[in-house]
Parts: sequence; C-alpha cells; structure tokens
Amino acid sequence: MTSHSVWYNNNVEKDNEINKKVVGKTFKCDREYVMKKETKNKKLPVIKRDWCKGCGICVEFCPQDALSMDDMEKAILEYPEKCNSCGICELRCPDLAIELE
Ligand code: SF4
Ligand code: SF4
Repeated sequence: MTSHSVWYNNNVEKDNEINKKVVGKTFKCDREYVMKKETKNKKLPVIKRDWCKGCGICVEFCPQDALSMDDMEKAILEYPEKCNSCGICELRCPDLAIELE
C-alpha cells in the first residue's frame, strides 16, 4: 500500500481507523468512491423482490459473500464491490428472482 492508497473493507469504522493511520486522515466517502470504481462496467445481480421467497440459497452459494438477507427476509446485494459476476446466484435461485444485468 502506498501513502496515497485508500484502504477499504466493509466496515466504515475500520476503514477510517486504517486510513487515519496510513494516509493521516479519514475519507467520508471512501467506500462509495471505491464501490463506484469497482462496480463500473460490471454485471451485477438484480433481485426481483416480489419473486424472492427468502430461502437464502443465493446467500449460501455466493462465493464472495456479497449477498445477504434484509430484515424483510429478501435477498439483497449488500456488497456490490465484492461481486465477481460469476452468476452462481442467478443459477441457484429456484424462483428465477435473480438476473445479472
Ligand atoms: S435464492 Fe432466490 S428466492 Fe432464495 S433468497 Fe435468493 S433471491 Fe430469494
Ligand atoms: S454473481 Fe456470483 S459473486 Fe456476484 S452476488 Fe452472485 S454469486 Fe455472488
């Protein structure tokens, strides 16, 4: 990591703590910036909420831990920056509720 690098993971507090140590200051929108950069031109799963029955299969099968269940028991792409567009979630969803777009 160079002195200009901006650290990010999925924990904003941790990001800030590390950035403060490494770069000397925190960045309010690090994660949003990195997400935009990392998800550009990438196919991402779009989840049809009406079709999702909340089985959690896609969450279990995602090799990148990019998906999770929300408090309505619907799958969401919580970490788009982690997704590698492998399509496993689309393939595994028994209700055809996921499509990579
Ligand atoms: S596999 Fe399909 S139905 Fe099951 S939680 Fe995921 S999106 Fe919903
Ligand atoms: S496309 Fe692959 S990496 Fe992305 S959310 Fe689906 S299973 Fe996970």
